[in-house]
Amino acid sequence: MLKLITALLFVLILSGNNICEGQSPEKKPVNVIILIGDGMGLSQFSVPYYYQKKEPVFSKFKHIGLVRTSSATHSITESAAAATAMFTGRKTYNSALGVDSDTIPQKNLVELLSSNQYLSGVVSTSSVTDATPAGFYAHESSRTYHREIALDLINSDIDFFAGGGLSYFIDTSGRDLFRENNIEVNFSKLKKIRKPEQGKRYGFILALNGMKPMLDGRGDYLPKATEISLDFLSGSDKSFILMVEGSQIDWAAHANNEDYLITEMNDFEKAVRVAYDFAVKDGNTLVIVTSDHETGGFTLGASGSNKYGSDYSTITPTFASTNHSASLVPLLAYGPGAETFTGIFENTAIFYKIIDLVFPE
Ligand code: MG
Ligand code: ZN
Repeated sequence: MLKLITALLFVLILSGNNICEGQSPEKKPVNVIILIGDGMGLSQFSVPYYYQKKEPVFSKFKHIGLVRTSSATHSITESAAAATAMFTGRKTYNSALGVDSDTIPQKNLVELLSSNQYLSGVVSTSSVTDATPAGFYAHESSRTYHREIALDLINSDIDFFAGGGLSYFIDTSGRDLFRENNIEVNFSKLKKIRKPEQGKRYGFILALNGMKPMLDGRGDYLPKATEISLDFLSGSDKSFILMVEGSQIDWAAHANNEDYLITEMNDFEKAVRVAYDFAVKDGNTLVIVTSDHETGGFTLGASGSNKYGSDYSTITPTFASTNHSASLVPLLAYGPGAETFTGIFENTAIFYKIIDLVFPE
């Protein structure tokens, strides 16, 4: 009899739990990491599957989408309009940064989350003032205003940044804007931030403009900067949002240089691995991997000009152009809320999906 009662109780408890689970909404992410492979279309994305020994970390992601990238003015976007779309939810004209088609500043994810106790970080292999990272914090009518963008970064809510761009931060008036704004910047090397001071912001500016290409010895800068930023951002009791960009996949494609592209793509995959491993351990972090647009009309095609002359056993990377294309780009998601990132959607939807997850009604 006692056994029966115990069994009945057990069933009741189980079904009770099920009801609770059925009623409560999906767990919301505490932290958000967005990794952007600039210029990464599906062929670029496929590179680590053929040019790397290890199974790419991409295979671990179970929620996959495709993103439409056109800007407000052009079928084919560039990075500033794409970053503005993803980070403010607004389609705008090509080369606009954080402003709409009428050059009106639009609130970005960093601003919205910072006012809700989030720390924020940005890591890039270009200048930190380049279009993609700038789209995360700046409001300028043109991506070419690097000095103004640098000042936007100093005056922004960004708590951690890493990349190049020193030439845009040099102040001829002799003022130390970093010190005035409680930002500690390391200009020589990447290293873990030991004992961060409460409220202090940290930066690494390690090149005059863009960081070196992998082919010229950049080494493990991107995965390491990702790790150091995660270490810093997760070190307080606040939540965080981090954007990591593999900038030079795009530059390699513009240059139609396949060796450059392959090394940059494999490097980006390593940074994604760092973010993914962090999220697995953390359990409350949403990881989004996507791109702003495709560059180069890149293919992993066979060599030869017709089907009889082709060698299907050998991939011969080729480019159709030195410019961007309108191809849809892949998106991978992992963690709480990842299931909302499946299907085909506009780049602006990335912003709204994140906002809906972080601030559920
Ligand atoms: Mg970029
Ligand atoms: Zn480009």
